Amino acid sequence: MNKQKGKSDDHSGDNLSFLVNRHSNGADTVIHVNGIDIGGGQVVIIAGPCAVESRKQLLDTAKGVHAGGANMLRGGAFKPRTSPYSFQGLGEEGLKYLKEARELTGLPIVTEVMDTRDMEMVCEYTDIVQIGSRNMHNFPLLKEAGICGKPVLFKRGLMATIDEYLLAAEYILREGNDQVILCERGIRTFETSTRNTLDLSAVPVLKKKTHLPVIVDPSHGTGQRWLVPIMAKAAIVVGADGIMVEVHNHPEEALSDGFQSLYPEEFEQMVKEMEEIAHVMGKELSQVKHLSV
Ligand code: PEP
Ligand code: MN
Repeated sequence: MNKQKGKSDDHSGDNLSFLVNRHSNGADTVIHVNGIDIGGGQVVIIAGPCAVESRKQLLDTAKGVHAGGANMLRGGAFKPRTSPYSFQGLGEEGLKYLKEARELTGLPIVTEVMDTRDMEMVCEYTDIVQIGSRNMHNFPLLKEAGICGKPVLFKRGLMATIDEYLLAAEYILREGNDQVILCERGIRTFETSTRNTLDLSAVPVLKKKTHLPVIVDPSHGTGQRWLVPIMAKAAIVVGADGIMVEVHNHPEEALSDGFQSLYPEEFEQMVKEMEEIAHVMGKELSQVKHLSV
């Protein structure tokens, strides 16, 4: 691959030679993960707790989201917390519980990596490696993700413009990995009624500019449980290829982000409503793998 791409110092994101740009690959990129398609007319639903807190919490929540219609299980073993005194995640122990949850439910796993030194270990356990909002500009981590051999769920930075976001994604693609899923998760604005301002117009803008699939995270995007289902449905209407939401079996006891985590019953209801919206939009929910749990 030509590593000199983008050398012309064009910061606009309009440089036609960028690998993320739609023209460099006329068709939409569709990412296949264990029989599930991300992109290409299907709507993927990724759900699970903010953090893996214990074996029981994860397995119970995994069963709940599986029953409710999730296609993939999320859960952080390494957590980027605002305060160093908040729960930081279980590390490799958490990854082991995620693996067990996948064996139990058949749901592929999405989990975050925060440190280049953990990339190899995280990739041994996970199906999709997540790079979180706070690390969107961590270029050494992006380069590692580019060579890790796994699809990457790459979240928009809380202060990043769309073009900065695409240029950051370019770091992953230029290492040879085009299996990148973009995720709008809200940006920081003057508005305080919501945790972040969920920039839903970023979805059609990204879809116009890039061939990569785009999903939406209305949990971090709004920070409030009641807003999650309505914004998840809105995400489908604006053309998202799926959503990622936080679900917890007992949100009131969660060690992180309980206030924005859905109860399993709310999640199930939301999926039913999303199915109708997807239908109206000429899409369908990705095939759920029904394994007996
Ligand atoms: C997450 O999805 O677990 C997370 C920490 O989100 P973000 O990076 O968008 O804040
Ligand atoms: Mn969270």
